[in-house]
Amino acid sequence: MPTVFLDCVCIAQHDEELKKAGIQALGGFLTQSQELLILWSPRTFERLWCNFELACFLRQNVASSGKFQKRIRLVPLSMARLLGLAGLTNLWLWLAWLVWVIIESNAFLPGLAVLLASVAVLGPSLLGQLSLQTYLGMRQMQDFLDLYEQLGNFSVRSASCTCCLMNHQTTEGQRILCDRQQIFATIKRWYWTENADPEHHLDHFDKVVQTQLLSEVKSALGIGIPPLQYVIAMLGVPPLTLIPPYMHMGITQTATYDIAGPWWQMMQWMMMAIHVPAMAFLIFFINMFGWHIGLQLRRKHFVSMPCSLCLVMWLQLFVLGSVWCTFAYFSFPKEPWRLIPATCALWAVVIGLYLYAYRHLAKNQRKT
Ligand SMILES: [Zn+2]
Repeated sequence: MPTVFLDCVCIAQHDEELKKAGIQALGGFLTQSQELLILWSPRTFERLWCNFELACFLRQNVASSGKFQKRIRLVPLSMARLLGLAGLTNLWLWLAWLVWVIIESNAFLPGLAVLLASVAVLGPSLLGQLSLQTYLGMRQMQDFLDLYEQLGNFSVRSASCTCCLMNHQTTEGQRILCDRQQIFATIKRWYWTENADPEHHLDHFDKVVQTQLLSEVKSALGIGIPPLQYVIAMLGVPPLTLIPPYMHMGITQTATYDIAGPWWQMMQWMMMAIHVPAMAFLIFFINMFGWHIGLQLRRKHFVSMPCSLCLVMWLQLFVLGSVWCTFAYFSFPKEPWRLIPATCALWAVVIGLYLYAYRHLAKNQRKT
């Protein structure tokens, strides 16, 4: 059973004595830890206490090979927003699919009217989600570039702490001790090597962050697309729960294009259901690609945020529409010899795109 020490909740904030004891024991917790997980925001490395924790974890962790012996993982908080939005888009697709199922399985409903009404309701929501996702994705990629720059120019001396900001006085005018002096003295114990420069230990720690931590973080985060396992968990797992009801429909419901008996009827429902997650993965891939293009437009061609967002949105909708229309063209009418290869081809395209993206990214990571 893994044990987790979460600093923001494990150090008592309500009692000064307990808080002091917790802070003094921080080094012990970090020395015993096998892995450091940093929930990163752009301000993380500007905080002196975060840098203190980092200094503590890194001090025994730097091998001569330049690789860390214990794992450091950096998870950007902004990634949770993006994956949450991807989950919402997934939900949208399943809603659209359910509307389609109702139209297909109830011949008495005016199909076109329901279709138009559902597009009118769900269309703007998809557009809204996609544009928000694109905007946040572009910002996240920019944040990562800023992070690499921040780590490359890291200086523990320029980190801020509350005591210095308060000028070492409480609001009642009482003097308070400077955390900076205590932290720098501890860093001296950990990073000091014989040197004429009295502040050599601070430069030494800066160097470890600027070189080894930067290279580790770059290789883990790459250009800023989320790890594949997160994407699969967000988009690939929910549809699994829907397989049993679709099997049930395949057994009990009459399909519109029932031409080859019960086996084909079941296969038709399953094929149509599994094309939905393929579209969800495709949408997220196109979206990630859109973040990259949008950022390039902004950085290399100095296009404004609203313009690059507009251009990227059009591009995404064009690619998405082209792939889906091609799929619909080849799978309609839904006969076995059309539907099965069209669905397999759609999945092959999606898997190929992901393999390309993540292998290409891995290649980039090794270069850094
Ligand atoms: Zn201070």
